[in-house]
Amino acid sequence: MPGRLEGKVAIITGAASGIGLEASLLFAQEGAHVVCADINQEAVIRTVAKIHELVGTTADDQPPRAIAVPCDVSREEQVKALVDQAETVYGKLDIMFNNAGIMHPADDNALTTEERIWDLTMSINVKGVWFGCKYAIAAMRRNGGGAIVNTASFVALVGAATPQLAYTASKGAVLAMSRELAMVHARENIRVNSLCPGPLRTPLLMDFLDTPEKKERRLVHVPMGRFGEAIEQARAALFLVSDEASYVTGTDFAVDGGLTGAYVTPE
Ligand code: NAD
Repeated sequence: MPGRLEGKVAIITGAASGIGLEASLLFAQEGAHVVCADINQEAVIRTVAKIHELVGTTADDQPPRAIAVPCDVSREEQVKALVDQAETVYGKLDIMFNNAGIMHPADDNALTTEERIWDLTMSINVKGVWFGCKYAIAAMRRNGGGAIVNTASFVALVGAATPQLAYTASKGAVLAMSRELAMVHARENIRVNSLCPGPLRTPLLMDFLDTPEKKERRLVHVPMGRFGEAIEQARAALFLVSDEASYVTGTDFAVDGGLTGAYVTPE
């Protein structure tokens, strides 16, 4: 049976860990050629090795089923080079998953967050997504269309109980930017959607919620009573980038264990 992304070329940023890693494996299993990008070069090379292992391909295949590209998404010339490389190796770009993001341990409330933490967070989480969209849209125009998914967060939809002001503001920006891009490019066969994950059991959040008390403070708001898994986000991203979502654009797609739909209190 053909995969759901057979014949498609996808770029995934933040491909070395968490959601990006799971999405890289899943998209490849569904038939896509995957350009795995991350600031962590060693780890993203491991992602590509895992893809080869999983789908039974090798780095010598022409074209290879997956390639690793070191890229800091906050640097415009690196994002341009990333999209250029995808087009050079595979001849086109169908899918852009702008997923790389940070939640800095020093990101806190309005009074304590330092300006440099604010700027760093914005440059990766907001400007990085803009650069990804900018060069992907140009490539998708050359290709006659495509699908973009930008990773936002549930904290863009509801306030977070644990302060992380720069992060929250950055994810709100991702939602607003994605909606506008969806409208502006809707008639060019380019779809743009935001993925809004709930709290996940990935290093990004577990490093931040580093005590049982902090974890409980989050879990108390999740109707399902558990953290999500990265693969659950990857599956949602797969739907959004696939042709099954051909009439879906401009959405804030929440995959959050019910968190944004409920008013729950501790028992
Ligand atoms: P993760 O930390 O496991 O993975 C993030 C990846 O992004 C890492 O491999 C890291 O090296 C890479 N990265 C960081 N800065 C980069 C840069 N400048 N350029 C390129 N790559 C860079 O995190 P995750 O949980 O998989 O998060 C993925 C996305 O999901 C992020 O945008 C995050 O904000 C969002 N998100 C996560 C949660 C959660 O609870 N984990 C919840 C909501 C949203």
